[in-house]
Amino acid sequence: MAARTGKEYLERLAASRPTVHIQGETVTGGIQDHPAFRNVVQTYAELFDLQHSDEHKDTLTYTSPTSGEPVGTSFLTPKTPDDLVKRRNAFKVWADHSNGMLGRTGDYMNSSLMALASAADWFAQANPAFGENIRCYYEKAREEDLLCTHTLIPPQVNRAVAGTQQAGGKLAARIVREDDNGVVISGARMLATIAPFADEMLVFPSTVLRGTPEDKPYSYAFAIPNDTPGLRYIAREPLDYDRPRHDHPLASRFEESDCVVVFDDVHVPYERCFALGDAELCNGFYSQTSSVVHMTHQVVTRTTAKTEYVLGLVSLLTEAIGIEQFQHVQDDIAEIITTLETLRAFLRAAEADAEVNEYGVLTPAFAPLNAARNLYPKLYQRFPQILRKLGASGLMATPTELDIQGPAAADIEAYLQSATLSGPERVKLFRLVWDTCISAFSSRQALYEYYFFGDPVRMAGAYVKSYDREPYKARVQAFLDRA
Ligand SMILES: Cc1cc2nc3c(=O)[nH]c(=O)nc-3n(C[C@H](O)[C@H](O)[C@H](O)COP(=O)(O)OP(=O)(O)OC[C@H]3O[C@@H](n4cnc5c(N)ncnc54)[C@H](O)[C@@H]3O)c2cc1C
Repeated sequence: MAARTGKEYLERLAASRPTVHIQGETVTGGIQDHPAFRNVVQTYAELFDLQHSDEHKDTLTYTSPTSGEPVGTSFLTPKTPDDLVKRRNAFKVWADHSNGMLGRTGDYMNSSLMALASAADWFAQANPAFGENIRCYYEKAREEDLLCTHTLIPPQVNRAVAGTQQAGGKLAARIVREDDNGVVISGARMLATIAPFADEMLVFPSTVLRGTPEDKPYSYAFAIPNDTPGLRYIAREPLDYDRPRHDHPLASRFEESDCVVVFDDVHVPYERCFALGDAELCNGFYSQTSSVVHMTHQVVTRTTAKTEYVLGLVSLLTEAIGIEQFQHVQDDIAEIITTLETLRAFLRAAEADAEVNEYGVLTPAFAPLNAARNLYPKLYQRFPQILRKLGASGLMATPTELDIQGPAAADIEAYLQSATLSGPERVKLFRLVWDTCISAFSSRQALYEYYFFGDPVRMAGAYVKSYDREPYKARVQAFLDRA
């Protein structure tokens, strides 16, 4: 098969039967018609269609080495600098489509799978079958153009004790038994974004395991279809209120559901397992395979697109109400420009300093990408803050599309005009600003960016520990000694 069209994605979704609990009901099919999901599902279908558009197909696809068909560029194993550029350009096309608001477009997990499969020998250390399994799974995902999501962390019950100790070890998803064909998983994982409308769930290693014998049942990596028997999702209240695009321009398109994941004796066949019972290997899963690098390459491309969007939005806002000339406004705009240029520089440096890893994959330099992923969770928080400060009361003068067409039309025309826009145009712009900085959708975006790669506090701890500061200490010491 080849890169899918939107129609093909929707057909597969219609045929799958994931169990999703939402607002007191259980959905067991027809996800694409459900009011909580249908709009974002349409957006995902648009992404698949872009792979076939005259404008983007050359960027978004390449020729499969096995089938000779066009397949998604995010599956491309980079060997040359041009490959890395092609991958980044493809990430950018999809990220631009949602202004960076979709965090789980297929290219995110595809990038991970590409790196994991290239490092099949690393998986084979534990068992040659695991190396073969990850290779086969990557090929399947590539050829069927699967949309995967992932779930990593144990439920947030008591973070004072390890996941393995929650409720006597009976809470976090774990291997409860093995049979001739595979393993059986019970318990829960905290969250999976887009779970209701993904094709597959990647259940990958959790936050660092300690490598003790008790960790064994919690040490695994596998992939299962979203409608595997016993797999249940509990979705949070949707932030897409099924309102017109004019009124909720972002939430009505880009509302990715987040779900708690419950495993009720879920059977995972051995051929879908990539690691089992090996805590030490699980701890090296992302770093030793370069998976984290390729995922971060995709994410920094997405956050660059998001920052471009915020810069465009803030510029239209400040022009509209004539506040461009004030110095503190320029200071805020300069902050967004600086963030954008910093991200672009990180991406460029990562690609310029790329090296072939031990598995023959041209891998971007991690140092700049690591800096970017440690910075952005905090930098992003400033954007809604700036938009709120500059938008001020205009963010409350936001009647709906029906008002613009209804009895208030003349008042809106007269009193809500701006320096550069008519009343209806200004309301439309400010609704977009509102959905970026005040709405429930915008709050979830800020939370998402903050926790995207994990808790920034613990990430900072790991970052400091892993960064080689010896040369700098030595230099300062030498200076002291010279005095
Ligand atoms: C919108 C959204 C979507 C998400 N989507 C996914 C997804 O698709 N798949 C997935 O696997 N995960 C997803 N996550 C989860 C994400 O990976 C976690 O939020 C992140 O790893 C932090 O873990 P936590 O939420 O359990 O926070 P916790 O670990 O519970 O932390 C809560 C607070 O306690 C502090 N704290 C807790 N333990 C410690 C400690 N040991 N040391 C210091 N401080 C501590 C933290 O600093 C933090 O302030 C998503 C999260 C959000 C918000």
